[in-house]
Amino acid sequence: MYDYHSHSSFSDDCATPMKEMLDEACRIGIKEIAVTDHCDPDYPDRAFPFELDFPSYHKALNDAKEAYRDRIKVRKGIEIGIQHGKILEKCRQRARAFDYDFIIGSFHCAEGLELYGGRFFENRSAEASYTAFYTYMRDCLLQYRDYDVIGHFNIIDRYSDRIPDSSVYMDLVEEILKIIISDGKGIEINTSSFRYGMGERTTPAMDILQLFKDLGGEIVTIGSDAHKPRDLGYRYDTAVEMIKSVGLNYLTTFEQHKPSFIKL
Ligand SMILES: [Zn+2]
Ligand SMILES: [Zn+2]
Repeated sequence: MYDYHSHSSFSDDCATPMKEMLDEACRIGIKEIAVTDHCDPDYPDRAFPFELDFPSYHKALNDAKEAYRDRIKVRKGIEIGIQHGKILEKCRQRARAFDYDFIIGSFHCAEGLELYGGRFFENRSAEASYTAFYTYMRDCLLQYRDYDVIGHFNIIDRYSDRIPDSSVYMDLVEEILKIIISDGKGIEINTSSFRYGMGERTTPAMDILQLFKDLGGEIVTIGSDAHKPRDLGYRYDTAVEMIKSVGLNYLTTFEQHKPSFIKL
């Protein structure tokens, strides 16, 4: 197993020390793990600033990589919450301030509003919300390239009351996927969707994953987005099947932002 999305107590929303996460990863036979703690510059909810203690985090990553080298490959990662305007520059600085192996670029907010608390959806229809979300994502990604994969591409599905017909937003999704592919980046399969009661709705949704492949996309990582040890490697086999079912035969790993392809 190659789990490329995991958190530790360096993230504001995770209480498990990195060591406990890594010990469990070894125990269940994960070969390679990317530790990707949260950094969301200017996150609107001040109760969860999602800021990292960078010196301690970087030291912990370096130490873990060394301490676990005979048991598991630890990839030094980060999940950066992308937002527009001046925040993009902060994201860029954070991304470049350390020799990360792997960066997940995630949209936890749009238009300065958080998706999680629902403020983004207030006073507009689901259709309008989806159009606004994917327009926002496209406009940010036209200006920002300091990531390796986009995290939980359709995270909006988790927080919206309703998922509109895909004809509402698929043209925008296609534009975004083309930007990601032409920039040499990828997307992840985020298996936390199976823990959030999203039913058959996967992350990314299967039509988005298929379109990514059909447009020439090749870089796909698998991540559990575990915030607890028991969620590491969660539904890994399902993610592998998702990749195969769209006609891709490889999953991707990263070292120093350089992708390697593992045959499935
Ligand atoms: Zn995230
Ligand atoms: Zn995450």
